[in-house]
Amino acid sequence: MLLGIAIDTPLRRLFDYRPPADYDGKLEPGQRLWVPFGRRRLVGVLIEKRAQSDLPASKLRAAESVIDPVPLFDRELFDLIRWSAGYYHHPPGEVFAAALPTLLRSGQPAEAVEIEWRLTDVGRNEGAAALGSRAQRLRTMLAAIMSGTTRESALASVIARPSEALRELAKRGLIERHEIRPEIVAPTDSALESALELTPEQRVALDSITGSFGTFKTWLLHGVTGSGKTEVYLQAIAQCLARGTQALVLVPEIALTPQLVQRFSARFHAPIATVHSGMNDTERLDAWRNARSGAAGIVIGTRSAIFTPLAKPGLIVVDEEHDPSFKQQEGFRYSARDLAIARAQRHSVPVVLGSATPSLETLARARREPQTLLSLPRRAGNAEPPRMSLIDLRHNAQTQGISTPALQAMREHLERGGQVLLFINRRGYAPVLFCPNCGWSAQCPRCDARLTVHRRTHELACHHCGTQQPYAAKCPTCSQPTKPVGQGTERIEETIQQIFPQAPLVRIDRDSMRRRGELETTLDRVNRAEVKILVGTQILTKGHHFPLVTLVVVLNADQGLFSSDFRASERLAQIIVQVSGRAGRAERPGQVLIQTEYPKHPLLARLLDGGYDAFAEAALREREHAHWPPYARLALLRAEAPQPATAMRFLDAAHQAAEALSIRTVRLLGPAPAPMERRLGQYRGQLLAHAPAHGPLQRLMDAWLPKLEALPEAKRVRWSIDVDPLELF
Ligand code: ADP
Ligand code: ZN
Ligand code: ZN
Repeated sequence: MLLGIAIDTPLRRLFDYRPPADYDGKLEPGQRLWVPFGRRRLVGVLIEKRAQSDLPASKLRAAESVIDPVPLFDRELFDLIRWSAGYYHHPPGEVFAAALPTLLRSGQPAEAVEIEWRLTDVGRNEGAAALGSRAQRLRTMLAAIMSGTTRESALASVIARPSEALRELAKRGLIERHEIRPEIVAPTDSALESALELTPEQRVALDSITGSFGTFKTWLLHGVTGSGKTEVYLQAIAQCLARGTQALVLVPEIALTPQLVQRFSARFHAPIATVHSGMNDTERLDAWRNARSGAAGIVIGTRSAIFTPLAKPGLIVVDEEHDPSFKQQEGFRYSARDLAIARAQRHSVPVVLGSATPSLETLARARREPQTLLSLPRRAGNAEPPRMSLIDLRHNAQTQGISTPALQAMREHLERGGQVLLFINRRGYAPVLFCPNCGWSAQCPRCDARLTVHRRTHELACHHCGTQQPYAAKCPTCSQPTKPVGQGTERIEETIQQIFPQAPLVRIDRDSMRRRGELETTLDRVNRAEVKILVGTQILTKGHHFPLVTLVVVLNADQGLFSSDFRASERLAQIIVQVSGRAGRAERPGQVLIQTEYPKHPLLARLLDGGYDAFAEAALREREHAHWPPYARLALLRAEAPQPATAMRFLDAAHQAAEALSIRTVRLLGPAPAPMERRLGQYRGQLLAHAPAHGPLQRLMDAWLPKLEALPEAKRVRWSIDVDPLELF
């Protein structure tokens, strides 16, 4: 018998080993082993047992030892991870590595076992007397244990080389080793804060979800902003816990949604494990262990939390399911939202996709299965939907990108005691530094992109690669004074402070909210009314509850109206609706002003007339007509190289290789240079494979990728495949 093992390398295959010397016949898929790999020793995950190998027996090496006494994953999760490596055509070793906390990748034990050293009867009776007078190290160690320090982790700092001393004391029969496992707290349903009285629509949604416990079902909870989706999740989770099962909640970015985690911990006694990128390795492993043991009743996490093992899965929730951050854009490019559905199916549990602005993929699914759509068309409590209107930038005077009617509205809302939110999708001071004399503008030396002016740090920065340069007050070619053109958040902040010097203002973007906890404190200040004006980027669209905000101004809706990316309009509509949803969430009614140079644009017209539903209706029709997703499936082959021709040569060869496979329904579009061809000094190109369904695409990739690996041109480029890509560049 041989072992097919996944090892964290970029090769799209498993590696065969003979069983280790300590093999006792009991090995199951999902257990880790130490294996020799070249001259190194690596952690691998057993994927399958095999009868034979392509390698000659003489070349097969034996695995060194088994790490885990039992598999790391239950069968369903193991199957999901393995399946996703196939679906996304990513090397299985990298996929399993991505699914594990860093410390498990490096061989740490999966079980949280604490070693304790206790005195034996002999040790208790004879104590130090049993040790010779010269055994000073042993005496010190024994004294520590006698004084009550028994945990190995604490004893480690008593003397140098502690384990040697402990072994010696044990050999002399004075102490013995005990393993302590953490106590498992069963999930409890006892709520702290009491649940709200549900509206009839919320009640229907809740009953539908809880009625499907124990079966696989994909629900779309489509509720307008402020309709009480979170309340539905909370009550569904309460019932999930009451059944003794766990809930997994995926959210876009925990750092950006501190209020959400607060609401969960205010509601439940059940221990909550959070999983996100701000945690260190030990915290991550702890959360993983608590979820796997069942100690944590609720697991809340970002994208990668979809791979967290659960002792008793009962419910999966994907909040803000439309958010692009659920798609991993580097390395193993998976969609956590799509995997949530695949996982729920394997566990036979319901999954709830919640959003005020569902992705067109999810809407199309709900149309095919109308009984899975749960609508919350009204706001909860007394709040009314905000009134939306357009401001035509062609016919109104502006001060640094802010129109006169917008300024007037701000004045009125501030006078009546409301808060005002200004949204602009661009951080920094200005997107361009320009020389009016000779036409020079500041470019990134490594990308096809302009440098953004940052006033606060007095720098020019590339938002694509992070390159920074000192600010250039004089033109480097003609030495005349330069001029920042256009607006970003910093400039809006500066302008508004001049116009409304009395109104306290905060700027909320990635530059100003760098420090941990800063966003949390700022949001608290906003909701304590210490702030009157908020200026910010997309961070402000992320589901925050601002009860005092009565006016939202979208300063520039036009980026995205004419993009070549077929998803740009969907993204824009989602952002406008989400940011508008911050207005009027409590007693005071809200108003939304959208500045545009294209007030007749159909996207804006539909959004204003019929809201997101009307937009989505039309957008779905357009997608169907043009054969774009969700009415087609895509896979994007990307390549990059230091010379522009190199990447294109590889893609041309890839195109030919695909044509030779002649899979009829797959169309190949390209190759073409990426819309921003040069990034970080690399020239990038892409080839899009388009098919009416996933099946033919899968057949193509199964045959195509091994051919690509063998192409001579492949050695000179970095290439990757992106299945169901979100970004087409
Ligand atoms: P969403 O998640 O859809 O944006 P939330 O769950 O945050 O909405 O609810 C918005 C506001 O309405 C919150 O302040 C919440 O406490 C309140 N709310 C939710 N459901 C109800 C209800 N049934 N009755 C009264 N208030 C509610
Ligand atoms: Zn110049
Ligand atoms: Zn750059």
